[in-house]
Amino acid sequence: MDNLQNLHKWSTELKEQDYTMPALFVGHGNPMNAIQHNQFTEAWRQLGKDIQKPAAIICISAHWLTKGSFVTAVEQPKTIHDFYGFPAALNEVEYKAPGHPALAALTQQTISQTHIELDYEWGYDHGSWSVIKHIYPEADVPMIELSIDYHQPASWHYALAKELSVLRKKGVLIIGSGNMVHNLRMVAWDKPTDYAFDWAIEANELFKDKILQHRHEDLFDYAALGKAVQLAVPTPDHYYPMLYSLGLQSNKDKITFFNDQPVMGSLTMTSFRLEEA
Ligand code: ZN
Repeated sequence: MDNLQNLHKWSTELKEQDYTMPALFVGHGNPMNAIQHNQFTEAWRQLGKDIQKPAAIICISAHWLTKGSFVTAVEQPKTIHDFYGFPAALNEVEYKAPGHPALAALTQQTISQTHIELDYEWGYDHGSWSVIKHIYPEADVPMIELSIDYHQPASWHYALAKELSVLRKKGVLIIGSGNMVHNLRMVAWDKPTDYAFDWAIEANELFKDKILQHRHEDLFDYAALGKAVQLAVPTPDHYYPMLYSLGLQSNKDKITFFNDQPVMGSLTMTSFRLEEA
């Protein structure tokens, strides 16, 4: 069956299910993960095996920052190679998962706190495809991206995610893709790749504590959390996707961390999975 035939089938499948899909926050790190096999990509591949196959995916990527809110609404999103200076093999990756215009429209209808615009220009940036090509290597789960309105505060993103959470009941896997600790200016090029600055570990542990204690509101004014967090989050692009994933958490969800490792001194790959116990 080709993708267009599938489209009709999928659009009718987004109905209430008797289960709630898990939700994910994934630290994506270096774009090279897309074409490497390492401990992180192994964990991503395992997710695809462990999680019940979704009807569709919504990805909130650190690499789609906008003024206003958008969802990708094309039937076949293009693969965007939004990086420079990487090997040709990375630029040649095409992730062919179809889009899901019906889910884009449903997302638009579901969100009341702002107007969600349907977008026909964007596709899959590396924040989504570098990870999801490992989770679903067959590219057989349709996906849309939801942009991050970079003019809105942390609490706004969290509240938006709360509205999105009803889609977990319709077979939709929602994935925030960023990094909890992400300071590219301070990458330790002269150290082993698993090296971490003290402040990176401190911030990573602080975030995990807040998450485990369900003190999500404490994470909104992140700059007030001290020097380590200020270094970990110099700009919030890779941090906001985590707030989306936290906003999806219900009181039935248990949380499991994975890929809880530092890389390159100033990043952590720390990720989590939410699922009803
Ligand atoms: Zn990134």
